[in-house]
Amino acid sequence: MKAFRGEILSVPDDPQFAGPEAVRHYEDGLLVVEDGLVLACGPHAELADRFAEAPVEKLEGLIVPGFVDAHVHYPQIERIASHGEQLMQWLERHIFPAEKAFADRAHADNVAAFFLDQLLSHGTTSALVFATVHAGSVDALFEAALERDMRIVSGKVLMDLGPEGLRDSTASGRADTEQLIARWRGRGRLGYAVTPRFVPTSSEEQLADAGSLVAAHPNVLMHTHLSENQGEIAFVAERFPDARDYLDVYDRFGLVGPRSVFAHCVHMSDRALSRMAEAGSGIAFCPTSNMFLGSGLFDLAQADRHGVKIGIGTDVGAGTTLSVLATLGEAYRTCQLRGASLDPFRALHLATAGGARVMGISDRVGGLLPGQEADFILLDEKSTPLLARRCKNASLHDRLFALQVLGDDRAIAGTWLRGARAHLRAN
Ligand SMILES: [Zn+2]
Repeated sequence: MKAFRGEILSVPDDPQFAGPEAVRHYEDGLLVVEDGLVLACGPHAELADRFAEAPVEKLEGLIVPGFVDAHVHYPQIERIASHGEQLMQWLERHIFPAEKAFADRAHADNVAAFFLDQLLSHGTTSALVFATVHAGSVDALFEAALERDMRIVSGKVLMDLGPEGLRDSTASGRADTEQLIARWRGRGRLGYAVTPRFVPTSSEEQLADAGSLVAAHPNVLMHTHLSENQGEIAFVAERFPDARDYLDVYDRFGLVGPRSVFAHCVHMSDRALSRMAEAGSGIAFCPTSNMFLGSGLFDLAQADRHGVKIGIGTDVGAGTTLSVLATLGEAYRTCQLRGASLDPFRALHLATAGGARVMGISDRVGGLLPGQEADFILLDEKSTPLLARRCKNASLHDRLFALQVLGDDRAIAGTWLRGARAHLRAN
C-alpha cells in the first residue's frame, strides 16, 4: 500500500447531465493505492488516520486521472503535419505509403515503442489505437504496451478494397483477426477492436464478416470512422444509394452496437445520432484533426440532445498533437464556432471517464474511484512562465481552462500506471 498527497481533481460523471456534484476536488487530498488499485481517494484530513501505515509521497501540482485517447493511429505518428489535402487525397499521398512500411516488423516495433512513450509523456494512459492492415503491426503495439503496462485497445485494420500493398481479403482479414484475438486475449490490460478502416475501403462481404466477428466475440470493440468529410460521405452514398445515411451502412452489417466506437461524426443527421444513442454506440470527437483536414466542426450540442456517449480523440496523424490537453483547447474552439461552449470540468470528464465509457472500460479507469486502476497524472501549471502567470491566484475553473488552452506535454509533470511511475525509455 502507498499514498499520494496533493491537490486532486476527478470528474467521474458528466457535469452536463449530473450537475456540478460530478466534480470531485480535494485541495489537500489523499489517493491511497493498493496492488495498483485505488483503495480510497478523498480529503487528507478524513483519510490520514485510516491509512496511517501507508508511506506517503507528496506531489506538487494537480493530480487528475490519466487521459484516455479514444481514437489515434500509431502508424501515422511520423506523418503528423503533412501539408496540403483533405481526407481522401491526404490518405493517398501521405498515409497509405507510410502504412505500407509496417509490413516490416522491425519498423513496427520501433514506431510502437516511440508512440507509446510519447503517449505517456503526454499524460495518456489508455488509448483506442488504429494499427495497419498487417497483423504484425498489432503484435508490435501490444508487445510494447504489455511491457509498459498500458491499457491499449487495438486491432488489425480490415481493408480489402485498400490500395495495392495495403489490402487484405475477407478470408485473410478474418483469419488474422481470429488469431490476434486468441493470441492476446486476457494479457495485461490489452483489448481487441475489430477495425474496418471505413466503408470506402471494405467490400460488403468484408463488412458483413466484421459484423460476424463482433457478434462472435463478446469482449471486443468495433472501431471505425464515420461521416468525417463531405467527399467521403458522397462516395459512400453513391455506393449504397438505398442506405438512409452513412451510419445505416454500418448498421446493415451488424456494426452499430454498444461496443462500437465511431471517430469523427462531423456531419450527422438526427436520425443517425438517435440510432447511435439507442444502440449505445460512442463517438470519438477529434477536433484538431477535423480542423487540420478541413473536415468540419463536430456538433457537441446536437450529439448531447440525443445522449450519445462521447470521448476525445487526438487522431494523430491527421490530428496535430498527442496532447489531450491541447486537444481540449481545440474542442473548446470548435464548440465556440458552433455557437456553444465547453466547460473545462466537462472537458476533463470527456478526456478521462467519458472516453473510458466509450471504450467500455469505465469500471477500470477514468475517475480515480475505489476499485479502479490507479492511472493518474500530475499537471504542472507552472510549466511555462505564461501559464504560471495566468494561473497565479486563479480559481480552479480558470486554472483548468488555462491548462487546456495553453498546456501541452510540458504541463505533464509525471504519469503513473497502476500506482507506479512510468519511466520513459530513450528512443
Ligand atoms: Zn482516424
